[in-house]
Amino acid sequence: MKITAAMTAEKGSPFELHELELADPKPNEVLIRIVASGVCHTDAASRDGEIPVQYPVVLGHEGSGIVEKAGSNVTSVVPGDHVVISFASCGNCEYCLSGKPAYCSSFLMLNFGGVMADGTTPLHHHEHGVKNFFGQSSFATYAIANERSVVKVDKEIDLALLGPLGCGIQTGAGTVFNSLQPKFGESIAIFGAGSVGLSAVMAAKIIGCSRIIAVDIIPSRLELAKELGATHVINGNEADAVAEIRRITNGGANYSIDTTGVTEIGIQTAEAIRVKGTAAFVVKVPAGASSHRYFRQVFCYALGRGFHSTIIYPPTH
Ligand SMILES: [Zn+2]
Ligand SMILES: [Zn+2]
Repeated sequence: MKITAAMTAEKGSPFELHELELADPKPNEVLIRIVASGVCHTDAASRDGEIPVQYPVVLGHEGSGIVEKAGSNVTSVVPGDHVVISFASCGNCEYCLSGKPAYCSSFLMLNFGGVMADGTTPLHHHEHGVKNFFGQSSFATYAIANERSVVKVDKEIDLALLGPLGCGIQTGAGTVFNSLQPKFGESIAIFGAGSVGLSAVMAAKIIGCSRIIAVDIIPSRLELAKELGATHVINGNEADAVAEIRRITNGGANYSIDTTGVTEIGIQTAEAIRVKGTAAFVVKVPAGASSHRYFRQVFCYALGRGFHSTIIYPPTH
């Protein structure tokens, strides 16, 4: 079928609308009419080549929409269902089979490799194959996704709001709920109040953390953090964040999260925890020297202090 997609022709080129051909869904796939898509930093980084992908490509990996057609083997959704599309996973490796598909052994290939699991792309432009992204390519009017990537949602909820559940929201909330698992009454400091950080704030609020401290340098984000459950906010441009966190928590937070990927903030994230605390680094650091610097400095710091530090790979990418 003909679709309209925001294609990225080559590294660094802008998103441009083109008419593309989208294949029919295969037996395990679903055709979805896209209603909305979040725009994630990973889309921008992939467009600009900071994350190595092949071009031309249709990016977009926070799609939400309505099932138009389901392949013959699909059992979890039917046409008309409202769905959110998340990352792709193989379903066969030890991580998928133990309920942790975000750590799938084939994660890189299936999400950044440009093709579906069978090695083909459902997207074509003038007979030429166009690379797929995250098993969905949601910057388009329609998308094909494997049934495994599709989660049915309540029809009462506005689909336009739900796309980021598939990436940014579950990355931040999943770090708290699944990886850090703070207990009721414990404290947590969250550096960066973007969609990942704010989702971590909401998860900490649901768990009942006693002190939920959000750090950012943009006042409007800090206001939103308060609205979503932060008990304290710190503007990193105006105050010594680590000293403030230690004061508020009487010596350091039980948990901290860096969502920024900035080396200095990563070090502050390690500094902000108390002895036996746990720091999580949910970051995308550009490949190469700056990546090396971030991890070397942050982890040398943490190891040098003898803290129990936990490296957490983002649950989705
Ligand atoms: Zn993302
Ligand atoms: Zn897998």
